[in-house]
Amino acid sequence: MIRIGLVGLGKIARDQHLPAIAQSPDFTLAATASRNAQAPGIAAYPDLATMLVEEPGIEAVALCQPPQVRHAAARAAIAAGKHVFLEKPPGATLSEVEDLAQASEQVGVTLFASWHSRFAAGVEPARAWLAGKAIADIAIEWKEDVRQWHPGQEWIWTPGSLGVFDPGINALSILTRLLDAPVRLDDAQLEFPVNREAPIAATLAMRTADGAPVSAVFDWRQTGRQSWNIEVKTDAGVLLLAEGGNSLFIDGVLQPLPDEAEYPALYTRFAALIRERRSDVDISPLRLVADAFLTGHRSSTAAFCD
Ligand code: NAP
Repeated sequence: MIRIGLVGLGKIARDQHLPAIAQSPDFTLAATASRNAQAPGIAAYPDLATMLVEEPGIEAVALCQPPQVRHAAARAAIAAGKHVFLEKPPGATLSEVEDLAQASEQVGVTLFASWHSRFAAGVEPARAWLAGKAIADIAIEWKEDVRQWHPGQEWIWTPGSLGVFDPGINALSILTRLLDAPVRLDDAQLEFPVNREAPIAATLAMRTADGAPVSAVFDWRQTGRQSWNIEVKTDAGVLLLAEGGNSLFIDGVLQPLPDEAEYPALYTRFAALIRERRSDVDISPLRLVADAFLTGHRSSTAAFCD
């Protein structure tokens, strides 16, 4: 069993990491580092630095804080010789993730830049079905209610947090897994609430390496039915990944899927990487977001208040 420490006991740590570690055959939770919270029965420290000093037996850490503070924490953990699991997005900038990749290689520890949506049940079967088919068009619709999924999270509206790309990057992580060749951005439109520094909505026009159009609509103002869909039209039928990749339809017919959930699968992958002394750091989803911020047209929209 690999002794792991969990850093940042917020929504995703409580909803997914704690249960996934509890049921993992590979990991045992040794301690947590949190400014405000504790996990029952688990050694608790106020910050990562203290946890690293007090728990020298920890071999790995999972970092579940907002992206803006993740680089410093990851650097400290790598310097202490720990394997590191990064929640998505792996950082606030491309350059800091590249820095972590280099640092982990120098120290000889595993760095796992996780993309949980790539582990949704339908993604690998979809990738297999698409292999060898000619893609005509891809349409992504990722619309959700920010008040439901990020209640009171002020950090999501600050620079470095990605705004609506925080969920949108999940779609881009699936897109870049489905296709073997790089996707490129042609155009982006970003809508910023007048009182916020991060976009609440975005539309992207992209292209596959073969030139097929890829459109994406991300919107945090959705109420009622939420949509996390990717539709791929090919020369041999239409594929629809729905529910964030957890349902797969081919020509309208629901496909049977394996039943392993995303976060248990992420920890299985992290353990395999540690055993194989390898890292997995794919920044292609974050690069598309960076391109959208670099080249996108910006407009202002109504103020957002929680
Ligand atoms: P959250 O509920 O706000 O939790 C983040 C936690 O990070 C806080 O509770 C806090 O924990 C810690 N933290 C450390 N420095 C902080 C700072 N400067 N500002 C705010 N918090 C700080 O956020 P979350 O939804 O769990 O998201 C965390 C990461 O997971 C994000 O990168 C997000 O994209 C990713 N993620 C979220 C979801 C989701 O559904 N929410 C799904 C997948 C991935 P302590 O008080 O314990 O120190």
